[in-house]
Amino acid sequence: MTQPPADAATMEKIVALCKRRGFIFASSEIYGGLGSTYDYGHYGVLLKTNVKSEWWRAMLQERDDIVALDSAILQHPRVWEASGHLAGFTDPMVDCRACKKRFRADHLDREEMCPAKASLPKTDDRRHELTEARDFNLMFKTFVGPMEESASVAYLRPETAQGIFINFKNVLQFSRKKPPFGIAQVGKSFRNEITPGNFVFRTREFEQMEMEFFVPPDEAPQWYDHWKQQRLHWYVDLGLREDHLRMREHDLDELSHYSSATADVEYLFPIGWSELEGVANRGNFDLTQHAEYSGEKLEYFDPQSKERYVPHVIEPAAGADRATLAFLVDAYDEDDLGGEQRTVLKLHPRLAPVKVAVLPLVKKDGQPEVAREIVKALRARMQTEYDEGGSIGKRYRRQDEIGTPFCVTVDHQTLQDRTVTLRDRDTLEQERLAIDGLVEVLVERLAREWRSPKVAAEA
Ligand code: ATP
Repeated sequence: MTQPPADAATMEKIVALCKRRGFIFASSEIYGGLGSTYDYGHYGVLLKTNVKSEWWRAMLQERDDIVALDSAILQHPRVWEASGHLAGFTDPMVDCRACKKRFRADHLDREEMCPAKASLPKTDDRRHELTEARDFNLMFKTFVGPMEESASVAYLRPETAQGIFINFKNVLQFSRKKPPFGIAQVGKSFRNEITPGNFVFRTREFEQMEMEFFVPPDEAPQWYDHWKQQRLHWYVDLGLREDHLRMREHDLDELSHYSSATADVEYLFPIGWSELEGVANRGNFDLTQHAEYSGEKLEYFDPQSKERYVPHVIEPAAGADRATLAFLVDAYDEDDLGGEQRTVLKLHPRLAPVKVAVLPLVKKDGQPEVAREIVKALRARMQTEYDEGGSIGKRYRRQDEIGTPFCVTVDHQTLQDRTVTLRDRDTLEQERLAIDGLVEVLVERLAREWRSPKVAAEA
């Protein structure tokens, strides 16, 4: 197996594969596209759904101290005053007078050289002619109701977290939880990013997977460490190469106004090391702010110690699209099959959009009928696909490119002895198995893979 090179060409290949196989398309393409917005096709939906399901599994199924929430995208405008987003949710931007491009002031070191001054080396300080930094608010503004007036201004949420804080009291009252406990949410967020780009890495509309973990103040440091470790493991468990992952603790001058400590899970994308997820110790900033702006008491009364306190919050905040991109990048591989190049997505079986494809060798002699009978049995247990079009080699290549771990092939012998071949995506081994019991074999093989090492260790 060859390791994919971490460069721009890899990204281009992945973008091409995503389009060719129907994972992700540029949005509004028939109208010329709308910059940096994307639509997910069939396999993209299945893959991203699996990423989100795995996140839910880690948050809900494998623990008993977190509950789920799905809050509205439109919230009271005061929410964004209290959170600080209206005043401070800005990125300082600079423009280059020579090439007319706009950059985030804090990302300049990562940007390309000024094309108008291409002769300067990349390390040269004069590579752009930059303006002073200016602030841009990143929130999308809209109006609720028929009148476009100041009284009806609303914003599309720029993060899912605030919907959690404003429901703290509801959840505390109705979920029978007490600190330490968490509230988890997955949903769309919107930011009018000035420099979106790099495929789905940074877009203006994206999905987040955020969890706010409320703890007694003196336990915050230990829970911060706990969540940093858990979140890094989650990516490793789902197959990301460990040497392409790292945890980077923020320097003091990088910290947000509310945070006493933040670390980023970073992944070595083709564009270089970049944030995949942030884990922050937010102290009691959010609950205190919402208590002040709403007039509601947002605190916990401990009946045992008779103590009343505002919990501190540890927040792991991940992006579903950015995580999906990382899994795609990491899984992408090209190998050589006796002189023939194949492209394969070596996705973890838990993430693979389709778990098994059933392929009749020929479209006649009763083979399609038997294949469909197998599909029917498998479908009840896992995402299954039937494909009878084109040569068998082409169909295998197609399944390799969408990351299907297993292919079941029905051939002439099947009609005689009710056996099929089972092909493994990664080893390319083919074995002959009886149709009776095939479902159980596949369920068992996938279950072996499906057990996260964490759960397996605890079992
Ligand atoms: P960045 O520094 O990359 O702008 P951030 O620190 O502003 O990210 P957070 O507010 O911590 O990001 O959001 C949590 C996660 O949401 C990020 O780690 C990322 O995975 C995802 N995310 C944030 N902004 C975007 C975006 N514009 N497009 C896609 N995903 C995003």
